[in-house]
Amino acid sequence: MLEDRKPDRGFVEIDGEECKGCGLCVEACVPRVLRLAESLNRYGYHPAVYDGHGCNGCGLCFFVCPEPGAIRVFKLAAPERGARPEAALAAV
Ligand code: SF4
Ligand code: SF4
Repeated sequence: MLEDRKPDRGFVEIDGEECKGCGLCVEACVPRVLRLAESLNRYGYHPAVYDGHGCNGCGLCFFVCPEPGAIRVFKLAAPERGARPEAALAAV
C-alpha cells in the first residue's frame, strides 16, 4: 500500500544516452528500484531507468557506474520534526 511506504531518501537521474547498459547499477541497488529499459538508446544499449520511487540515496549506483555523467544521485534531507516534508537536495 502506498500509504505504508517510507518516504524516499533520495532520487536518481539517469542520462539514457550516456548509459552503456552494463547493469552494474541495477545489481548494486539494494531496494531494486533500477532496471534496464526494453528500448535502446542511440548507441544500441538498453539504458538503466529509475522506477521513480523507493531510492534511499545510498549512492551505490553512482559509485559502481563506469560511465561519467550517466547517473546522478540526490539525497533528500530528513525533514525536521513538525516541518513540512519538502527537502533540500544535495548531489552525492
Ligand atoms: S542511490 Fe542507492 S537506492 Fe537509490 S537508485 Fe542508487 S543504488 Fe538504488
Ligand atoms: S552502471 Fe552506469 S552505464 Fe551501467 S547500466 Fe548503470 S547507469 Fe548505465
